[in-house]
Amino acid sequence: MNKAAIRILVLDDEHFMQKMLAHMLATLGFSSVDTCDNGLSALEWVDAGDTTPQIILLDLHMPGMDGIQFVRKLVEHNFEGSLLLVSGEDERLLQMTQKLIEAHDIPVLGRLSKPVFLPELEAALEKWKPAFHPHHAAKKVYSAGELQAAIANRELINFYQPKVLVATGAVVSVEALVRWRHPKDGLIFPDQIIELAEENHLIDDLTRLVLVNAIKQIKAWQGEGLSLEVAVNISMDNLMSLSFADFVVDAAHAEQVAPQYILLEVTESRLMLDQRVPLETLTRLKLNRFRLSIDDFGTGHSSLTQLRNIRFDELKIDRSFVHNATQDKTSRAIYDISLGLGKKLGMEVVAEGVEDLDDWDLVRRSDCDLAQGYFIGRPMPAAELIEWIAEWKDRAQEWQHSP
Ligand code: C2E
Ligand code: CA
Ligand code: CA
Repeated sequence: MNKAAIRILVLDDEHFMQKMLAHMLATLGFSSVDTCDNGLSALEWVDAGDTTPQIILLDLHMPGMDGIQFVRKLVEHNFEGSLLLVSGEDERLLQMTQKLIEAHDIPVLGRLSKPVFLPELEAALEKWKPAFHPHHAAKKVYSAGELQAAIANRELINFYQPKVLVATGAVVSVEALVRWRHPKDGLIFPDQIIELAEENHLIDDLTRLVLVNAIKQIKAWQGEGLSLEVAVNISMDNLMSLSFADFVVDAAHAEQVAPQYILLEVTESRLMLDQRVPLETLTRLKLNRFRLSIDDFGTGHSSLTQLRNIRFDELKIDRSFVHNATQDKTSRAIYDISLGLGKKLGMEVVAEGVEDLDDWDLVRRSDCDLAQGYFIGRPMPAAELIEWIAEWKDRAQEWQHSP
């Protein structure tokens, strides 16, 4: 990265801080630095077209327009750069502010407490990447008819993401994640599919297709000597239909796949007024020896009441409490409590969103049963799994020997 070319604006009402930060930036090799002492003039820089800043060092505490109000203005002015927060405020407040800013799709490079130290400033700036505009890459919206045709034409396929035993690294299960192989647009992800299906009464057809494909895949892997459980995501709307349990039983029976190999992941996607039908469906599935998992645990969609009413075999701690839990005290507390709760109730506990070595170390140290995440393996087509397992075995052996 050419540091001299990156345009940085320092926004701080204290002139002493402005000077000091500008000096530190110059020491680090950043020479296109401007300073200003209030939000209004900063917005003029933002609107300046070619010279608009790519990074703003933002002091949250300013008279007049404060940092939070300034962020709202940045959104209105379509700011496309990143922010680096500088504040004398306590860490929790800084964290809250960062979440808020990120909710507006503005990347936050880091949080610096005053006094600012050079190595911290340098480390935060190293995270900067040239223009990344999440809100500009508008996603195509498909119609219900297009999705319906895609389901009928079997354009929906399953990718599979591995889940591994933390203690041994063994690959015991995979989660089926739906993808739409669009003939023109390439691979389409669930965020453009699931809601559309739920809102247009297509979710039953979609889930049935995913489930049948998953069951056939279990059988195919068994033929290759690979005994794997497959997890399938179930929408609450599926559970509202009285014929769903029969469909699952029949689909497994048709391929002669034992129900123990099929895990149904459930999350409460919306408030259920009538709990009786979902409860009946889940109880019948359980009675037929299918395994049940409570997904996204801790997010409010998957609540404690569900745990009391339904006997789940597995609890998946939501990834927002796993990734970075070693840095974030609150996430860590929620992670620990969820893990303890799952174990106390005799469930297997899965940590989702294991993205880096820190996360993996945490799940190993904390005695979590299973782990899933990009650090271990990304969702992949079924055909790639066997090769992936061999590669993972090599990697897992290294971790096993590390302290
Ligand atoms: P989910 O059930 O929580 O599935 C995990 C999602 O997290 C997947 O996204 C996966 O690719 C992603 N993921 C896995 N590891 C990591 C990680 O380390 N870091 C991060 N940041 N993400 C990770 P995907 O495939 O885009 O699916 C999104 C959601 O769509 C799923 O969330 C699930 O709720 C829903 N979904 C996917 N397939 C189906 C389906 O067949 N039926 C239904 N009803 N919902 C589905
Ligand atoms: Ca899931
Ligand atoms: Ca999940």
